Amino acid sequence: MTAIPGASWLVDPVGTRPQFTGSDFTDDDRLYAKTAEDFVRSEVLPQIERIEAQEPGLMPALLRRAGELGLLMIDVPEEYGGLGLHKTTSMLVSESGALCASFSVSWGAHTGIGSLPTVYYGTDAQKRRYLPRLATGEWLAAYALTEPGSGSDALGAKTVAARQPDGSFRLTGVKQFITNAGFADLFTVFAKVDGEKFTAFLVERASPGVSTGAEEKKLGIKGSSTRQLILEDVHVPADAVLGQIGQGHKIAFNILNIGRFKLGAGAIGAAKECLKIALDYARDRKQFGQPIASFGMVQKKLADMATRIYVADSMSYRTAGLMDAAEAALDRGAPDYVARLIRESIEEYTIEASALKVFGTESLDFVADEALQVLGGYGFTAEYPVERHYRDSRINRIFEGTNEINRLIIPATLLKRIGTGGLPYMDFLKRVDAEIAQGATWASASQGALEREYRATEVSKRVVAYITRVLVEKDLASLKDKQQHLEILSNMIIDVFAMDSAVNRTRLLKGHGTEDDDRLRLMMTNIFVASAAERVIDGARRLLVNEFEGDELRRHLKLEDIIPRIPIRTVAVKTRLAEALVARGLGPVFLR
Ligand SMILES: Cc1cc2nc3c(=O)[nH]c(=O)nc-3n(C[C@H](O)[C@H](O)[C@H](O)COP(=O)(O)OP(=O)(O)OC[C@H]3O[C@@H](n4cnc5c(N)ncnc54)[C@H](O)[C@@H]3O)c2cc1C
Repeated sequence: MTAIPGASWLVDPVGTRPQFTGSDFTDDDRLYAKTAEDFVRSEVLPQIERIEAQEPGLMPALLRRAGELGLLMIDVPEEYGGLGLHKTTSMLVSESGALCASFSVSWGAHTGIGSLPTVYYGTDAQKRRYLPRLATGEWLAAYALTEPGSGSDALGAKTVAARQPDGSFRLTGVKQFITNAGFADLFTVFAKVDGEKFTAFLVERASPGVSTGAEEKKLGIKGSSTRQLILEDVHVPADAVLGQIGQGHKIAFNILNIGRFKLGAGAIGAAKECLKIALDYARDRKQFGQPIASFGMVQKKLADMATRIYVADSMSYRTAGLMDAAEAALDRGAPDYVARLIRESIEEYTIEASALKVFGTESLDFVADEALQVLGGYGFTAEYPVERHYRDSRINRIFEGTNEINRLIIPATLLKRIGTGGLPYMDFLKRVDAEIAQGATWASASQGALEREYRATEVSKRVVAYITRVLVEKDLASLKDKQQHLEILSNMIIDVFAMDSAVNRTRLLKGHGTEDDDRLRLMMTNIFVASAAERVIDGARRLLVNEFEGDELRRHLKLEDIIPRIPIRTVAVKTRLAEALVARGLGPVFLR
């Protein structure tokens, strides 16, 4: 398998590279996913009231039970007591188990940000000491980066690690909002050695001086433990340092990259559940003598919810596949294997992970909100689980890097890649300029059912390229401070990733399943691309208008004259899509 460069979809024509679509999940993958889903449905959700009341000992017991079922060992290498499965498997399991966010956040904090720092950065001795215990749930883990005074600005942490003459350290500081803090046995703690070198440490709960604050009272994910971690002169040995002294930022950011990718996937799992509830309800509920599913505005909601989910799946499966392909291309026996694994299978896909985090979490917010609306007053009551999903979804835009921070990461990473030549964007920009000069019409490479969608996606890539170039040429130095510009650009890039992923997935999946499945996938691609292409053009116009004036603006706005407006009618499509979904439920198209 060859690795595919991150963000190459910004440059390559649709479908140039292989893409993992979800059709290639193995029976084993599906079995792990089913185990997770069955466990949450049969053993977690029935206890939801006790979970939300934070009954002492219940969440750790559920996590340990998940450990017995093998659900904590998926990302732990085999040599350390885990299963060492693919990212695609891990992602599918996260998605399938995300039906109770109080549990899935605790589970994700343990298996993801809690355990992965040791998986990727631990020494052999650290891995031998901790990973077999974490893989079974004998020990539970947490990740302690945030502080009362430093959230998004994580490197502004004040926790200190005072170096002792014998090489050990004394840690003092307060960490804020730490998931699983109420019961975790092992914390990955970030602190500054000598007051400046940002460093990760593995701190055991039993160490004298470790304590936790009171449980936060929260809007959602009420059953998860969120507390301060208080470190008062905590003595840790020299070998508690994780990775290198002064290199903690790399651990913090790379682990968050995986966390983001899994969070995006998990959000989509919860969104599928909300849509399923809304479909069932809309089919049964009658008003004015007919099912509410027959009303156009309800149909539009159902169609838009399904479309966001289908597109988010396309992005998430693709991203997991990219990570797996990059990992498969490496030589496991090489001495620099782990370093390359981190660089080439995680860091490389920073843009994809942030895009998925933003798109997945905002899709869940949208879907949970619309599902609640479809259920009317009943949606607002605790009688239906949509009320819980609505409350629980809100946190996702805040943790693992707020969506604002992730929106900044996307263009910043892109500009860095252009600068270092990591992405052949300059060649692409030249090609786009030449195409514009020649009055190109960007005819579609595909003549099939996706012709307009191909064309709209290719045109959108060129609009993003054009805008990126003019912004950089105008004033690269000040661009990083123009956050409102960057937000628009970021949204355009996310839309391109989403369009490219969905159009290619629909192409690749043609013939998989029934003709009805094909029809559904086409409709959702059609609906999404119609709106995303318009958003990209609108974003370009807003950026140009805000950045230029007079003749220069008029010259740039000529871009609009040459951009083909691609009429895609969506009203009737949304009706047909909603009718099909109401009749058949989610089914294989959504891997449900
Ligand atoms: C329930 C819960 C669980 C959590 N679990 C963990 C955990 O396990 N481990 C852990 O380490 N942390 C955890 N966190 C902390 C979480 O990651 C932070 O809350 C988050 O990173 C934001 O930091 P903050 O709350 O200090 O907000 P701030 O950083 O103060 O941000 C406030 C607002 O300003 C915006 N903002 C900040 N900086 C910028 C900027 N440069 N440009 C534009 N906008 C900006 C933010 O987007 C946000 O809208 C958790 C938080 C919660 C609520």
